[in-house]
Amino acid sequence: MGSVVGRFAPEQSTVGRFAPSPSGKLHLGNLFCSLLAWLSAKQQGGKVILRIEDLDRERSRMEYVRQAEEDLRFLGLFWDEGGTVGGQDYFQSNRDAYYEELLNKLKKQGLVYPCFCTRAELHAANAPHASDGDPVYSGKCRNLSSETVKKLQESRVPALRLKIPAEMVSFTDGHYGEISQNLERDCGDFILRRSDGIFAYQLAVVADDAAMGVTQVVRGRDLLSSTPRQIYLYRLLDFPVPEFAHTPLLLAPDGRRLSKRDRDVSLDALKERGFSGEDIVGRLAFLAGLLDMPQPITPTELIPLFDWKKVPKEDICLPQNLFFR
Ligand code: GLU
Repeated sequence: MGSVVGRFAPEQSTVGRFAPSPSGKLHLGNLFCSLLAWLSAKQQGGKVILRIEDLDRERSRMEYVRQAEEDLRFLGLFWDEGGTVGGQDYFQSNRDAYYEELLNKLKKQGLVYPCFCTRAELHAANAPHASDGDPVYSGKCRNLSSETVKKLQESRVPALRLKIPAEMVSFTDGHYGEISQNLERDCGDFILRRSDGIFAYQLAVVADDAAMGVTQVVRGRDLLSSTPRQIYLYRLLDFPVPEFAHTPLLLAPDGRRLSKRDRDVSLDALKERGFSGEDIVGRLAFLAGLLDMPQPITPTELIPLFDWKKVPKEDICLPQNLFFR
């Protein structure tokens, strides 16, 4: 695969996306976010791309890709491009050659270095933690001599990190407003390719959103703290920066974060309990503040009602009686 995968047709109007990781079934929180992403793009007359984020080959399964597509269709969240119909270019697992090309661009700028630190070293007790829970990298391998690198390479394949400056990155989130992050203090030099050869989410997501002409990224608030790193990459790679809007997260009735292991909030389980697509969309729209009552509705009918101002900023605890019968 050549660099052609890096150049999709340029787009003038709004392009949004769904970017599921097929490591399990989508849960209500993923679908809540997909609904808002779809509404935000469609209200502007835009299109939505479905990209499969299967970088982690071991955890990704084709059955979950098919299931995600079925779930999105069941709710009426039809995408315009990508997914299994779009072919292999929409699967991150097929795009290594393109990621490599971008990695080389960064290497040429002298910004990439090998890191030999072990997990234990990274998670050392005194390492400060970033807001996403990852330890802030100390910079230990940043200035290794070429002899040391050569020697270490004999026994271990390194990860590759990006040197980041002591700089503030600021942007205006479409929902959460002004966000600023000090890259050095809040995340440190971050990984572009893991030691097992897998490209990091941060690089792949920027690479693909740029290549696919995405102008609007709508996703869960859990990724808000990744956005400054991604904006920094957009700038280094000379790509236009899209708009970002993050959504509050849905929490289980007991306040826990939903996970793909929570079977009772998968769409299958809801279907078994007799909910139709419109029932579910209506309930999600009610939680998003778009409806006063959880009544059945289609995504298309919601387009004129969508407004970020109605959407809560705080995470949303699923009321016990809304999805559980
Ligand atoms: N693949 C990520 C997920 O399923 C989403 C990444 C993104 O939207 O940037 O959580």
